[in-house]
Amino acid sequence: MSLQLTGVSKSFGSQPVLDRVSFDVERGTRLAIVGASGSGKSTLLRIIAGFEQPGAGEVRLDDRLLASATTTISAHRRGIGYVAQDGALFPHLSVRGNIGFGIPRSAAREGRIREVMELTSLDADFLDRYPHQLSGGQQQRVALARALAPDPKVILLDEPFSALDTGLRAHTRAAMTRALSQSGVTTILVTHDQEEALSFGDQLAVIAEGRLVQAGRPAEVFDAPASAEIAEFLGAAL
Ligand code: ADP
Ligand code: MG
Repeated sequence: MSLQLTGVSKSFGSQPVLDRVSFDVERGTRLAIVGASGSGKSTLLRIIAGFEQPGAGEVRLDDRLLASATTTISAHRRGIGYVAQDGALFPHLSVRGNIGFGIPRSAAREGRIREVMELTSLDADFLDRYPHQLSGGQQQRVALARALAPDPKVILLDEPFSALDTGLRAHTRAAMTRALSQSGVTTILVTHDQEEALSFGDQLAVIAEGRLVQAGRPAEVFDAPASAEIAEFLGAAL
């Protein structure tokens, strides 16, 4: 059981953005992908989520073909949750409305909303608040709760802490990492923050100019960077 990318490439017009990206994420794994701004991280997540189509290659989840140059399973049928940099909550919906958005209406719905709020350390007092009444860190936790609510197989996080000021960042990171490890869901986090990438996951991959240039356990990549560029980017010694 895994999420598998094989030779995924993407160009915008004549500009190549992803070049034959391949990797396999085992179920339950937390993978951090680190790369400079413009290296193709968001495009990669958007292809996995179903918001962009690859120009070549395949995305498979548990052997089911989700995307190729000629196939697309629509985003909401992939069983994949996505959290954007700014959370992108629905501004006109309460916390309850946001989190419940992707769950079918049923007697169990309210219970599930409360369950994922507890998981993401959100107080039940927030249920009737609106996004503008929450701090940036609380908004990101609501965004994660919304992504977790339909019980996805995979969660994708696109620089979810980068818009937060330093005071909120550590607390939000701790709460979200705890929620993800408790839920056991397969997670991919992309970030340009080296420290964040090294501390987040079981696996670390480095992306540069659209290519996956190294992958392994975080300590392995840090201790044995494959090139001077990777060493410099990670602040490691070659
Ligand atoms: P990152 O998230 O690592 O900063 P992105 O995936 O956002 O990188 O962008 C990679 C490159 O692709 C950048 O040069 C960006 O300008 C370009 N790009 C991203 N999305 C589009 C788009 N929809 N149309 C044209 N170019 C795009
Ligand atoms: Mg990005």
